[in-house]
Amino acid sequence: MKSYDVVVIGGGVMGTSTAYQLAKRGYSVAIIEQNDIASGTASHTDGATLISDKQPGIDVLQGYHSVELYRKLSQEFSYDIEFSSCGFMYVCETDQEMAAAAEYAAKVRAQGFEMRVIDPKEMCEREKYLAKDLKGGLWTESDGLVNPYKVCFGFVEEARKYGLDVYTKHEVKGIKLGPNNQVEAVITDRGTFLTKKVVNACGVWAPFIGNMVGLNIPIEPRKGMLLVTEKAETIAHTEVLEFGYWLAKFFADFKRPVSELVEKHNVCLNIETTHSGNTIVGGCRLFRGYDLKSEYEIMQAIAERAIRFFPVLKDMNCIRTFSGLRPFCLDHLPIVSGVDEVPGFYIAAGHEGDGIALAPITGLLIAQIIAGEKTEFDATELGWNRFKGKDMAKLAEHPH
Ligand SMILES: Cc1cc2nc3c(=O)[nH]c(=O)nc-3n(C[C@H](O)[C@H](O)[C@H](O)COP(=O)(O)OP(=O)(O)OC[C@H]3O[C@@H](n4cnc5c(N)ncnc54)[C@H](O)[C@@H]3O)c2cc1C
Repeated sequence: MKSYDVVVIGGGVMGTSTAYQLAKRGYSVAIIEQNDIASGTASHTDGATLISDKQPGIDVLQGYHSVELYRKLSQEFSYDIEFSSCGFMYVCETDQEMAAAAEYAAKVRAQGFEMRVIDPKEMCEREKYLAKDLKGGLWTESDGLVNPYKVCFGFVEEARKYGLDVYTKHEVKGIKLGPNNQVEAVITDRGTFLTKKVVNACGVWAPFIGNMVGLNIPIEPRKGMLLVTEKAETIAHTEVLEFGYWLAKFFADFKRPVSELVEKHNVCLNIETTHSGNTIVGGCRLFRGYDLKSEYEIMQAIAERAIRFFPVLKDMNCIRTFSGLRPFCLDHLPIVSGVDEVPGFYIAAGHEGDGIALAPITGLLIAQIIAGEKTEFDATELGWNRFKGKDMAKLAEHPH
């Protein structure tokens, strides 16, 4: 029977980042993945590494540390993760959005991070294809992009240098606990792995792994859908989001001047042009269980919204569409923590629409917690203990 210091379940961004940090510290580490590396949400996503779409507080703090880590890792790694600090722009359609955006930027600046209001002239100088009738927006220099697949493979390849083992096509079926609920082994459909420490990095599937040790992990799949255009000249030079995207993320009752179709499916513009020259546009936030089907009406709504902000897209072909499942934690914060009642069990999941951006800091925090090191910053707010004594059924009463 194989034996490891730590077994990481899940080969997405969280699992690979965590495995990298642990292997680098000298632990013997295995990733166990039911399919292939980056086969879950990490391959059904955009690659924005944003600080600026985070809520002021622990959210921004995680974003800031994570992007700094990306900057460092992209220089250290021999594997190219296509990290670029291309900058990030929020665009506003109405005066009401502009007022909310300015207030938000002031809060972000008060935390010591850069973000400023820009006028339509500067917006159009930065993005020549942007619609000319917008009210203005916000600009952040330091946000950027990565290639999510390459991030996962980059972490794996770099961690292999420190001895990481990877078991793909191994589905975890159970976790054996010993006296006092201490983790003893991970049971898969292809054998058992002895270990005293296991990290649950299973994204939207984290609750199933939690059930194996008697935990009710409050994560649900929140579906997103993206359209991909044919290759062309760069349409978006930066990452661009409509400010309504941020408002829709945190305030379900926020209303925009949009068509019934866009309203019905809660669609907001986000757009990025990848290194390969394809432009990816989205997106939406929907609760559809684990259903990954692309839905025609939503594709129409995404296209409508994208053309409203980037009219040039009207004359371009969409070559494919795909959906992904964001691991939405019911209180909006990821869980990055050990679990007192199950010694040796750790959770790195629930990052919703921020997992690509937050993977480096999450992996680092989990490794620091396991190693008993001082964490990068006080991460108590991300801890499992925050759910103690909480009525989980009440928590689940979010707007669907
Ligand atoms: C449309 C869309 C756009 C997005 N855009 C962005 C963005 O621009 N920026 C950003 O930061 N984030 C974005 N996100 C969010 C981001 O993609 C996710 O937060 C992130 O990918 C989650 O990573 P993860 O490692 O937690 O989960 P996953 O990548 O899903 O990894 C979990 C892994 O666990 C494996 N697994 C599950 N159960 C088992 C088992 N029993 N045994 C073994 N293995 C198992 C799965 O196969 C999977 O590979 C977006 C998401 C979507 C859907």
